[in-house]
Amino acid sequence: MQWIDVRSDTVTQPTAAMREAMFKAEVGDDVYGDDPTVRQLEELAAEKLGKEAALLVPTGNFGNQLALLTHCQRGNEVILGDDCHIVWHETGGAAVIAGVQLRTVESDKGALDPQAIARRIRVGDDIHWPKTGLICLENAHSNGRVIPLDIMAQTHALAQAHGVPVHLDGARVFNAATYLGCDVRDITRHADSVMCCLSKGLAAPVGSLLAGSEAFIQRARRHRKLMGGGMRQAGVLAAPGILALTEMTQRLGEDHANARYLAAQLAALTGIQLNQDDVHINMVWFAFTRPLDLPRLLAAFTAAGIKVNPPEDGQMRIVTHWQIGRAEIDRIVAVLAEFLRD
Ligand SMILES: *Cc1c(COP(=O)(O)O)cnc(C)c1O
Repeated sequence: MQWIDVRSDTVTQPTAAMREAMFKAEVGDDVYGDDPTVRQLEELAAEKLGKEAALLVPTGNFGNQLALLTHCQRGNEVILGDDCHIVWHETGGAAVIAGVQLRTVESDKGALDPQAIARRIRVGDDIHWPKTGLICLENAHSNGRVIPLDIMAQTHALAQAHGVPVHLDGARVFNAATYLGCDVRDITRHADSVMCCLSKGLAAPVGSLLAGSEAFIQRARRHRKLMGGGMRQAGVLAAPGILALTEMTQRLGEDHANARYLAAQLAALTGIQLNQDDVHINMVWFAFTRPLDLPRLLAAFTAAGIKVNPPEDGQMRIVTHWQIGRAEIDRIVAVLAEFLRD
């Protein structure tokens, strides 16, 4: 059976062109710096992301943790949002790998008040205090919202005034650029380093990128080896990554339009609560207005060939991607409509 899988954009299968590119990729040992396809991807990524250099890493989680390890000293404090991916979904890695302390700022749907960040920056040499090593932002946020650029600009300016670097968790930064109608560099220029995922909406099978200054990436390359991320004939993974950055970034608007289409259909159903203004990228969140038989709902989805995650904190999430078109969305809506009718 051909599943309609809307659990995440991480479920995307590589396109036919990607499989072809993997098959034909010219490779070498990338730990020796010999893989021409990896080098091509890293040069392309640096240019697209507006940084001096970039590094291919196995996952987004790896890229973020590598950024913490490379920017910070053990015992440093990292300022970031209380609902961000690094705090919630990276297995406490910041404590284990970089050995840093996370100091959170309350997030307003993913946006962090620059003044709240400023109040947490450690100023002076009090021997009791940890040193502020890094500020992390996330855009697009994994709640599906895009953070306004003026907030990023203000945060970056105050960070620079204190000599603190800013890292952007840009797992979906190309989705953010698509939503804002800007070049991705207009976002990344408000950060010193950026991580971006190739394996989500961009459909590569594996891989993320960390970009920053030449000196930063040189140190990160050494730390990537330390973390066990020195990959050998990685050109077979870099080849679909090149298509992710060139072709797949161009079509993210379709996913966003499909998410808005889905949101409009769902909002019209009695029994569903959904804020269409929160649909910025490829994610639709909604809740049910009355208690329901959850196992029966999940069984109805499965019977219709649809894979969805169960609600988290009462909220269901559906994610669109290149394998989800209008027909697939209509089927999802039909299942929910029928379920709510009973
Ligand atoms: C998915 C995601 C990551 C981690 O990426 P993986 O490749 O799944 O490890 C990091 N940050 C954000 C915001 C994400 O959505």
